[in-house]
Amino acid sequence: MRDRAELERHLEAALSPCAMRASDSRGRPHADDEPPYRGVFQRDRDRIVHCAAFRRLEYKTQVFISVLEGDHHRNRLTHTMEVTQIARTIARALALNEDLVEALALAHDLGHGPFGHSGEDALNEVMQGHGGFNHNLQGLRVVDKLERRYADFPGLNLSYETREGFTKNLNPQGRAQYGFTQGESPPLEVQLVGHADEIAYDTHDIEDGLVSGVLHEDGLRDLALWRETEAAVLDEQPVLEAEQRLRWRSVVRRLIRTLVGDLMAETEKRLSDSNVRSLAEVRTSPRELVGFSLGLEFKKRDLETFLHSYFYNHAGVRKHTALWQERLKDIYAAYLKDPSRLPPDHVKRVDKEGETIERVICDYVAGMTDRFAETQWERYCKA
Ligand code: MG
Repeated sequence: MRDRAELERHLEAALSPCAMRASDSRGRPHADDEPPYRGVFQRDRDRIVHCAAFRRLEYKTQVFISVLEGDHHRNRLTHTMEVTQIARTIARALALNEDLVEALALAHDLGHGPFGHSGEDALNEVMQGHGGFNHNLQGLRVVDKLERRYADFPGLNLSYETREGFTKNLNPQGRAQYGFTQGESPPLEVQLVGHADEIAYDTHDIEDGLVSGVLHEDGLRDLALWRETEAAVLDEQPVLEAEQRLRWRSVVRRLIRTLVGDLMAETEKRLSDSNVRSLAEVRTSPRELVGFSLGLEFKKRDLETFLHSYFYNHAGVRKHTALWQERLKDIYAAYLKDPSRLPPDHVKRVDKEGETIERVICDYVAGMTDRFAETQWERYCKA
């Protein structure tokens, strides 16, 4: 059996000089014995997969409210697995730290509440004046405080670098407030997972949109990215002309390949253009080093604008998301009116942890799955 030091040496020998190494990790918030045969980031990944917030992703909305609209679409767990798969592929090809990338990708949506972005908007609205709500910062709360599995510390006690995945929207002061060094860029692994997330949801939302009948191929053909990708697919396999669903899936698959390929080529170009040759230089580089080429970035934005107009804001999709956006606010209000409706452990956090009752309720509601939120609405809010 190889011990941790030997395993890390073996893995690190194959990494790019710009990659994050487990042996260079800035460690965990609380003292913790490292296990004999797992690296720091491997252990982060295991802790994430075993936590309750991770299991609940299965019953949280990605775009469709799954319980109402069939079982074929993505939920937040399947989305998370797709992001992880894309991110690991890119990490391995660029010789970046695949263990860290896996942990980051598996954790990236842990802070999402029920009902997707409408749920986030609802919680942010009710929390105005009490610190607001943002799914990235909520992810940090989940892994730092809300998960309770260990006697010695709250949360999962993840490494600095895995926790850094939640800092995307933080300004320099915000970084300092959460214990991250100000004025530094995140490692390439962190930058990469953000883009893998975009690749996954852009392409898979198109597929879910087409299969559900909300989106139409004719509309997509107005987009250069779709048109060019479809032409390339049909050029190779003209038989797909007559196979609608297989055609959609083939175009989506090739689109992922195009985006992944462009991201890898552009990232290598930026590293070489900026003369970045070490992790320290990544940290001090003011420029985002992982990204798409300008040409593809524009086409990708057109696609995202299209998805916003015709998918996320489609009347049929909005009907349900808007309904649950309102109902989530009702649920929050029902707990605020009578906090004894919360499980006793949660109420105690006000005295034990110095949290406001508003924040405790927000944490509790954000932790709900779609279906649990529905039962709570039926119980406390249904007239
Ligand atoms: Mg995501």
